[in-house]
Amino acid sequence: MPASPTPGASAPRIAIVGAGIGGLTLALELRRRGLEPQVYDQAEELREVGAAVGLSANAVRFLHERLGLAEGLAARSTAVDALVFRDGHTGAVLGRVDSGADYQRRYGTPWYGIHRADFQQVLAGALQGAGLHLGHRLERLDDDGAAAVLHFANGAVAEADIVIGADGARSMLRTHVVGYDDAQFSGCFGFRGIVDGDAIAGLPDPAALQFWIGPTGHLLHYPIGEGRQNFLLVRRHQGPWTAPGWVTPAEPGEHLSLFADWHPAVRAMIGGAPADQRWALFERPPLHQWSRGRVTLLGDAAHAMVPHHGQGANQSIEDVMVLADCLIESLADGSGWERGRQKYQQRRLARTRRVQIASHTVADVLHQAPGPLAERRDARLAAPGFWDRHLDWIHGYVADAGEAQSSSGNQPSSGKPLAT
Ligand SMILES: Cc1cc2nc3c(=O)[nH]c(=O)nc-3n(C[C@H](O)[C@H](O)[C@H](O)COP(=O)(O)OP(=O)(O)OC[C@H]3O[C@@H](n4cnc5c(N)ncnc54)[C@H](O)[C@@H]3O)c2cc1C
Repeated sequence: MPASPTPGASAPRIAIVGAGIGGLTLALELRRRGLEPQVYDQAEELREVGAAVGLSANAVRFLHERLGLAEGLAARSTAVDALVFRDGHTGAVLGRVDSGADYQRRYGTPWYGIHRADFQQVLAGALQGAGLHLGHRLERLDDDGAAAVLHFANGAVAEADIVIGADGARSMLRTHVVGYDDAQFSGCFGFRGIVDGDAIAGLPDPAALQFWIGPTGHLLHYPIGEGRQNFLLVRRHQGPWTAPGWVTPAEPGEHLSLFADWHPAVRAMIGGAPADQRWALFERPPLHQWSRGRVTLLGDAAHAMVPHHGQGANQSIEDVMVLADCLIESLADGSGWERGRQKYQQRRLARTRRVQIASHTVADVLHQAPGPLAERRDARLAAPGFWDRHLDWIHGYVADAGEAQSSSGNQPSSGKPLAT
């Protein structure tokens, strides 16, 4: 890890727009390294209701080793003990991999399920409000003078030498960098919910992260503690997304009627939460350039992806490690942020592009109609070595080692889609 600069008059003024998972994590890491970034978020308070996030070893090791959050995370999250694939109609197990003791042995951390509000509290608790400005929605950025000038909806104005766009999948700073809004509908929408243990007493493998799959969609769920399960129910959608907005109100019971003929455990799970919003799953095409003027993108703003590999937040955290190292190094050796951010981009482009594409492919593979391709997929799910072939390259990646390296010692695999 490069040496930290001494903060002082020569330290750049850094504005991070967005206090989500990437923005908060970056603020913590930069403060730990002696810088004093200011973080601006449109929200009046940090809260994320009704959804959880899976944190895999490629991100957890950073939260443990650099940010010292092991205790806080362990207290608020639940370790997933297996990855299980089932037929969504019959419930038959198609594939199972231990991801408890074996995962910990390989990667040195658990694979966690955690409520987003709990995760934000762990991060915000560590930051203790330092440089955090809530109720600041960025409306306009002037970037043609001696400094970037940020204009917020509440009338506040701030200047910065470096602006990090961590403003999420609907990022306005991405539009600033790209020149237009390039969001693409992925062909799937979803319903999210958190269910209490009482509603799902008969659920098989409650400590596992499970996919229940079928030709029209899939259910993904995992434990997040206190007997609760977080679920994401995904449904395919033909044609463009014409509803006004990415998140729209759902009809009461709509998610139940769409999956009426699925396995009773699936119906029990999705019947345990109102799921009153429809989430269109949008993604962004991979970019060749993550910066323009003084703005550099991070997290979903740089590479919003569909959640089928559960990697959006984890990739944002990988970005943080690399961006922080490149920034600190460029300040310490005097090469400057222009050079530093080129290195950041070089080290992140191929990795994030690959995870984006793999995430998109997962849905096509899981939703394969009965036939030879589905049979090949099922054979792959059941075959020994499934994890090494298809998932080690994601979970075992050590972002701050520079090139792709697996902490398990395995060679990075091709990460081929299941059905090829
Ligand atoms: C249904 C679903 C399930 C998912 N499940 C997983 C999972 O299991 N694992 C995983 O790793 N990822 C998952 N993701 C993806 C994950 O949520 C994101 O990738 C992650 O939150 C990205 O972090 P971020 O910091 O880039 O953006 P965010 O966490 O979205 O934060 C962006 C922040 O920017 C703020 N902001 C936006 N615009 C402005 C503005 N103009 N001015 C000021 N502030 C602004 C927002 O208020 C927000 O706080 C899922 C996503 C979806 C939709």
